[in-house]
Amino acid sequence: MGLLASRDVFSWLLVASVFQVSSVRLAQGTYLCTAYLNISCTIPETNLTTWSREEMGLYGQDSPKTSVVGNVYLADPIYGCEDDTFYRRPNDSRSWIALIQRGNGCTFADKINVAAMNGAAAAIIFNDFGAEYQVIQMSHPGTSIVAVMIGNFRGMELVQLLEKGVPVSIAIEVGKQHGPWMSHYSVFFVSISFFIVTAVTVGYFIFYSARRLTSLRQQNHKQKKLKAEAKKAIGQLQVRTLRQGDQETGPDADACAVCIELYKPGDVLSVLTCNHFFHKSCIEPWLLEHRTCPMCKCDILKALGVEVSFHTKSEVQRCTS
Ligand SMILES: [Zn+2]
Ligand SMILES: [Zn+2]
Repeated sequence: MGLLASRDVFSWLLVASVFQVSSVRLAQGTYLCTAYLNISCTIPETNLTTWSREEMGLYGQDSPKTSVVGNVYLADPIYGCEDDTFYRRPNDSRSWIALIQRGNGCTFADKINVAAMNGAAAAIIFNDFGAEYQVIQMSHPGTSIVAVMIGNFRGMELVQLLEKGVPVSIAIEVGKQHGPWMSHYSVFFVSISFFIVTAVTVGYFIFYSARRLTSLRQQNHKQKKLKAEAKKAIGQLQVRTLRQGDQETGPDADACAVCIELYKPGDVLSVLTCNHFFHKSCIEPWLLEHRTCPMCKCDILKALGVEVSFHTKSEVQRCTS
């Protein structure tokens, strides 16, 4: 039972460590870099310039993690998928940023490459309706310009300003870098899984040890009780002291089967229920250990009415006498 349980514990620990390694692996794939967007615009009617700076974006997986400054121009059509996507902008060489909506069946890489082809220094892609503030880490292999995702709410705000003809300028700045497997979610996930695995393992060990301890105690108690009963029963055996001239002391008589010594006058013998006799000092410890007569293997303790489950080392036979 002990062997089985320790094997269980080992297999459980193995499963636990595989689980931990895979969770670290999973987390290693996640390399997150947030982006600050410093947005400024001048409302033409009031000539008032407002600006805001917020950590609202997330750099795409394949984007250079660098800062870009420029005026923002909206893709037309807004999904920016087709090669002939138009960006309404002045014909100058200043760096500019494309604003594109997520979706419409083309990949992030398609949108970003079309923007780059039009000369954009960066592409801001805003999320679907419903994802007001949520962003995902875009995967867009084969692109070269900076690409950042922002939530739908901020994206639509920018769209409204641009459609009203308000010039908007944005500085994209590198925010917090979450090194390999150091994103909040990964750390959280790894910690939680570590905690659960540790708690379950410790709990299992405590349960197993407690059960073992209880059964050992019960066993010990039973052994002690049976030993006391056995001693008491052995005390009831018939005892004889040999005298000079008894036939057991003769030269042809048998020796004590336990110590292999011949009997002498004055020796104290115990006579068992099978009528075999031995030195009292030899047979008493023998019976406590073996239960049986050394000569005929009869179960003496059973014959004396002591329960059978008392541990035995030698074979026990039925004694009819
Ligand atoms: Zn003896
Ligand atoms: Zn016997």
